[in-house]
Amino acid sequence: MKTAELFSDKTVFSLEVFPPKPDADESVIYNTLEQLSDIRADFISVTYGAGGGKNGSKTIGIASDIQNMYGVESVAHMPCIDLTKEQARLILESMREHGIENILALRGDRKDESPVQSDFRHASDLISFIKEKYDFNIIAACYPEVHPESTGAVDDLKWLRYKVECGADHLITQLFLDNRYFFDFREKARIAGINAPIEAGIMPVTNKRQIERMVKLCGVALPQKFVRVLEKYEHNETALRDAGIAYAIDQITDLIAEGVDGIHLYTMNNAYIAHRIYDAVQSLISAK
Ligand code: FAD
Repeated sequence: MKTAELFSDKTVFSLEVFPPKPDADESVIYNTLEQLSDIRADFISVTYGAGGGKNGSKTIGIASDIQNMYGVESVAHMPCIDLTKEQARLILESMREHGIENILALRGDRKDESPVQSDFRHASDLISFIKEKYDFNIIAACYPEVHPESTGAVDDLKWLRYKVECGADHLITQLFLDNRYFFDFREKARIAGINAPIEAGIMPVTNKRQIERMVKLCGVALPQKFVRVLEKYEHNETALRDAGIAYAIDQITDLIAEGVDGIHLYTMNNAYIAHRIYDAVQSLISAK
């Protein structure tokens, strides 16, 4: 099923997992999927390390197993920054052979400041390439706090609209910790004529190192309320985990009350946390 068809009559609830590192035990991700299997997720997406390689190639197998072993729709992420058109064609053929219908088409992160020198300079190039030759449902990334490399909010929205014009059917946001950024972004996107469903990406923050990394990488603002929680519980692992879960539940409750199209939970492969959040918001999702 194409994910864009899910939004008509419900608040979509989806999960994101990542494949094991090349030298790690493969069974770990399957244990996680087993533990996640009683969450009624509308789809599960599987990340793909930019640069492809062994880690990337696991994405397709895991996405395929999610559909075949658990009967849950899957989405395979596909960053294009290091791909030639021929490599992209091989990946897309493999996805098609594995019965994958949904792709999260991404540029991927740059390794340094130098301009991207590849067959695909932006996610929009990959989206156009896919739409020209294939029948995949395409999802694209968007940034309520503006992409860190962008020349500004207006330009970022212009390029987002271009991704939709090229063929993106559904959008998922970068994580954010202050819902006001999301509401503002959604309003501006609609004014700019971007009408594709926008799922809110929620990451439960459960340790201080994780959030410091995210702030550096994604430029996410830390609300005062969040900083207070972090400072109070930074030396108490269990309390910080529970506070992070409570914070995510609070964010999701507010988003659903404001009519969000969907919630995409970055699980970080932690089934316990995903369960705690799902259990708390399950009735809100089905109440639309
Ligand atoms: P783009 O859409 O190409 O945007 C990048 C920058 O270029 C932005 O500043 C934008 O404003 C600008 N821009 C866009 N199009 C054009 C254009 N046509 N001309 C000029 N400027 C343009 N990374 C991975 O490696 N693997 C993953 O699995 C992965 N999963 C992700 C999942 C989600 C939900 C999100 C939000 C991000 C994910 N990322 C992943 C990270 C992503 O690859 C980075 O954020 C990357 O820096 C940008 O990717 P993009 O597809 O948004 O790029």
